[in-house]
Amino acid sequence: MSLTPDPESRKKFAPATRLVHAGRDPGEQHGFVNTPIYRGSTVLYPTYDAIQNRRGRYNYGTKGTPTSDALTDAWTEVAGAAGTVATPSGLSALTIALMAAVSAGDHLLVTDSAYRPTRIFCDGVLARYGVETTYYDPLVGAGIAALMRDNTKAVLVEAPGSQSFEMQDVPAIAEAAHARGACVIMDNTWATPLLFPPHARGVDIAVEAGTKYLSGGSDLLLGLTSANQKYWPAVRRTFDHFAPCAGPEDMFLALRGLRTMALRLSEHGRQGLEMARWLQGRPEVLRVLHPGLPEDPGHAIWTRDFSGASGLFAVVLKPVPEAAVAAMLDGLELFGMGFSWGGFESLVIPFDCVGYRTATRWAPGGPGLRFHIGLEDLGDLKADLDAGFARLRAAS
Ligand SMILES: *Cc1c(COP(=O)(O)O)cnc(C)c1O
Repeated sequence: MSLTPDPESRKKFAPATRLVHAGRDPGEQHGFVNTPIYRGSTVLYPTYDAIQNRRGRYNYGTKGTPTSDALTDAWTEVAGAAGTVATPSGLSALTIALMAAVSAGDHLLVTDSAYRPTRIFCDGVLARYGVETTYYDPLVGAGIAALMRDNTKAVLVEAPGSQSFEMQDVPAIAEAAHARGACVIMDNTWATPLLFPPHARGVDIAVEAGTKYLSGGSDLLLGLTSANQKYWPAVRRTFDHFAPCAGPEDMFLALRGLRTMALRLSEHGRQGLEMARWLQGRPEVLRVLHPGLPEDPGHAIWTRDFSGASGLFAVVLKPVPEAAVAAMLDGLELFGMGFSWGGFESLVIPFDCVGYRTATRWAPGGPGLRFHIGLEDLGDLKADLDAGFARLRAAS
């Protein structure tokens, strides 16, 4: 008797069902539900013929283990990809995607709203190896065609934008890029494939910082690079050249996180949207940057392309002295101040994109705060912010 639906019969199931079953086969592990942690560098071969001809599924630790296969197979299924590699951080997953797509002499287009370390990699390593990067307005849409050069080999998109939350028209950008033979790379960390199936929307190589919602616990660093049929060989080859292998415990924890990701994400999204609406009604707030709000300029694209929101968004406060923002944040009881999000806990950070934007001007009209809404009781979270706003007003 089969103990779990096989990959072929899983195709009829919805994503939430497939998350539960993908990447494990209890029949192969004495009935135990989860794939065990394989730690290993050396793989032994039974015969001279086997080692000379590299027979067997596994032949060296860096090339994959049952634990890494469980994670990457599951992600391939969830993302609708042809293949996936797992790396030790989201940033390293981005570097594999970029290195797979561009070579010396190529031109690369990157959204001005990209995760900042992505820019630092492009301006540093890629520039040093002869790849030229141009940053573009995230709202460019099909207008990306006018920025394409004969040597433009890749376009990087991220929706919504890091910190600034602009929505990008990914299908329109992909169509224009593909018309010129360029590869479309997406940082899909915010939505995950559950809310935005990247490869079905025209993305060739998709990156997920598994550090965020795949973990769900702020307890590991992990990246996933998935690719469609056309780009999978290049991604796999690039990964093999660098061998940035994720640790087995982290991959095991990521698989554990995967099983509950749909449930957690819907709760982060529901709580986040309710909190965004509540913040919209606050007199101290100038604007809420959340594509799920009807007033958001990206709402139409979000409604068309995304099936939900995660728990990350931002607000722009009405102008106040910096000391007032500090008074608000310093006294918070529940909201932590920290950068890496996607865990069970609520977070807030001050942010400002002025220092690094080059294609567009960031002038929102007041100080920015980015929120991650966790799984705490929403009433408690509102009370914490309510007291914070009182401190802000008192110090203004
Ligand atoms: C966190 C994050 C990354 C990088 O992930 P790390 O695992 O921290 O390297 C990349 N892109 C986005 C959008 C992120 O939020």
